[in-house]
Amino acid sequence: MISTRPFAYPATQSPLACDGVALDALAKKYGTPLYVYSANQILTRLQLFQKAFETIPHLVCYSVKANSALAILKLLDAHGAGFDIVSCGELERILRVNRKAAQRVVFSGVGKTAAEIDLALRSGILIFNVESAGELDLLAERTSKLRKRARIALRVNPDVFAETHPYISTGLREHKFGIDIRQARTVYKTAAKQKYLDPAGVSVHIGSQIRSTDPFGAAAERVAQLVLDLRKDGLPINSVDVGGGLGIEYHSDHTFEPEAKMQQYADALLKALGPIEGLQLLLEPGRFIVAQAGALLTRVLYVKKNGEKTFVVTDAAMNDLIRPALYQAYHDIVPVVRRKGARKKAVDVVGPVCETGDFFARDRELPELKPGELVAILDTGAYGLSLSSNYNSRPRPAEVLVEGKRARLIRRRETIDDLLAAEKM
Ligand SMILES: *Cc1c(COP(=O)(O)O)cnc(C)c1O
Repeated sequence: MISTRPFAYPATQSPLACDGVALDALAKKYGTPLYVYSANQILTRLQLFQKAFETIPHLVCYSVKANSALAILKLLDAHGAGFDIVSCGELERILRVNRKAAQRVVFSGVGKTAAEIDLALRSGILIFNVESAGELDLLAERTSKLRKRARIALRVNPDVFAETHPYISTGLREHKFGIDIRQARTVYKTAAKQKYLDPAGVSVHIGSQIRSTDPFGAAAERVAQLVLDLRKDGLPINSVDVGGGLGIEYHSDHTFEPEAKMQQYADALLKALGPIEGLQLLLEPGRFIVAQAGALLTRVLYVKKNGEKTFVVTDAAMNDLIRPALYQAYHDIVPVVRRKGARKKAVDVVGPVCETGDFFARDRELPELKPGELVAILDTGAYGLSLSSNYNSRPRPAEVLVEGKRARLIRRRETIDDLLAAEKM
């Protein structure tokens, strides 16, 4: 069995470690707040995906927006991953890592601009996931202008409900994403008339942090029917992109076995899509690959009491990790060094930013903490730094990658000069 997280206490007396590398030493060397990732965990998760689908042609296209660190992209590229991008900036990252990896890039997103489309066409990406009739028109125009063919899939909206936070649910007709599956055949016919467009696939993405695998199966069944219909219409559909969205368990008091979850997920998809011949399956996992590989290390600045409540003020804030503020997300928080005899106490863990939403935990039972002590906010490898900002003019944290027994800086801490570089008085 693989461990859910790379973060553990090697012995009762030892500090929390990432794959055996002690985190207090990393905090001392690189400062806090600090993101720490395990390369081993990231690769293990990628390989879990690759293995679960080995019975059919497939490509795991890691969703770059979950964590777009160049070092992580490079690691995934070296192990055969493709990439799912949603902007030109993300494409530039892939091109920096390996120009040839463009052949393994799928381009998603509801608002692609002409400039973004042109860069993708010139780079020779694998396929465009088209989200509207308007985008199809623009793509037809840009391809004929550049005289470059494009393989396309329509991102269909399958109208399936997936239990997750409303901000990260995308597969219902009322959401802005995709083309209503009932209109898809008509739109494909229009696309097929365009000289430079090759309708080659169907794509779908129903949301994020979806823990039940049933909605994935339901969406895949609808997509499978559409593929058969389109083939009847004479279109050579040979690719299905099932999107990302497979959730993890953020509460450590729940059992979560990545292998078992992966197997259920693969079973649900293969049941619907396995029987269709001549298909390549594209998968776009983000969170499942990187979330549990990462932790945010932060130091306690103050412990203050307001009436009945105790607030632990840390040097990390919502600008460094916005998930709790944005989605009421839960993250386990643990002390890096366990102090003997520390009593448990319900506290709010908050950052220094001037917003009531700037918290990491509320009324959480934690071993009593003192100023200067370190805590780790777990499962923050996905949508952590990639969703960070400079709010309150706070420089972003540094990032460290643990590879085997060694740790190295993959992004230095930002400086005030970095923040001000683009400005004029
Ligand atoms: C965000 C996104 C993903 C990745 O979602 P996860 O929940 O991180 O797996 C995949 N595909 C598309 C189109 C997305 O927008």
